[in-house]
Amino acid sequence: MKYRIGIDLGGTSIKAGVVDEAHNIISSHQKPTLEGFELVVADMAETAQIAAEMVGLKWDDFSSVGVGSPGFINPQSGLLVLSSNTNWRNKPLKQELQKHIPVPVFIGNDADCAVIGEMIAGAAKGYRNILMLTLGTGVGGGLILNGRLFSGCDGMGAEFGHTPLISDGLPCACGQNGCLEVYASVTALIRQTKEAMKENPETQMHAHVEKYGEVSGKTAFDCAREGDVVALRVVDQYCNYLANGIGGFITLFRPEIVLIGGGLSAAGDTLLDPIRMKIGKFVFASNYIGTPQIERAALGNDAGMIGAAYLGDI
Ligand SMILES: [Zn+2]
Repeated sequence: MKYRIGIDLGGTSIKAGVVDEAHNIISSHQKPTLEGFELVVADMAETAQIAAEMVGLKWDDFSSVGVGSPGFINPQSGLLVLSSNTNWRNKPLKQELQKHIPVPVFIGNDADCAVIGEMIAGAAKGYRNILMLTLGTGVGGGLILNGRLFSGCDGMGAEFGHTPLISDGLPCACGQNGCLEVYASVTALIRQTKEAMKENPETQMHAHVEKYGEVSGKTAFDCAREGDVVALRVVDQYCNYLANGIGGFITLFRPEIVLIGGGLSAAGDTLLDPIRMKIGKFVFASNYIGTPQIERAALGNDAGMIGAAYLGDI
């Protein structure tokens, strides 16, 4: 049996998992992400090796190692062009890691890894055209077309979070204005919730925040479930932005399934049902050809590791 290793390179920790042929993570190990490119790469190799040794495996037992990382990754050149977590620029991630690891190494964007993971072992198993959005601090996106990852020239495409939603809209961290991310990330939802609370002293969201400490992505969704009118309005507006963005992507790529991942997807149908209801008005010819199913991603944080392990195959 050949195994694979998937490494999730995050801003705070490096996680490595051994994935078997049934797509299960059979062991995993993690270390904090320290400073310095060479040191972090050596730590990544060591983390992978420890995960392998935990289940009695040697490098000979592995067909490949894959790394998923946030930022601009060029899978062809092996360069980590820009990492927002660590501020690295143009670092030869693949080549440096290959010095420590005697099996083929592949690198990719974390959102691309998440959609691969969901296709291999999660909510999109059996599908060949998949769009996944991960809602977090930003909006990450991954696209599978005809069973293959589509990430554009040099891996710099499929940036769904930075497609324009509102002309001359709010400024985005990327330097553009009005990106989907500025309206549909969890950061955006928190901003929208705070604005609504300021304007509406009567909303139950104030009591919710007193109980739980701070405004989060859950505040509006929890209070909407209880029937709070202001919270319902926040959720409705947020889901409208999201449906608007997703509708455009469906019109462009016509995936069979759309997955929503990230912490906010824990809201389940409270999040998905309004999007399912609204999506038709943003999709070309939806009256005639319908709209794809919209589901919650299944693997949570494991999607990145499993997907990274298969970067060499997809
Ligand atoms: Zn942007």
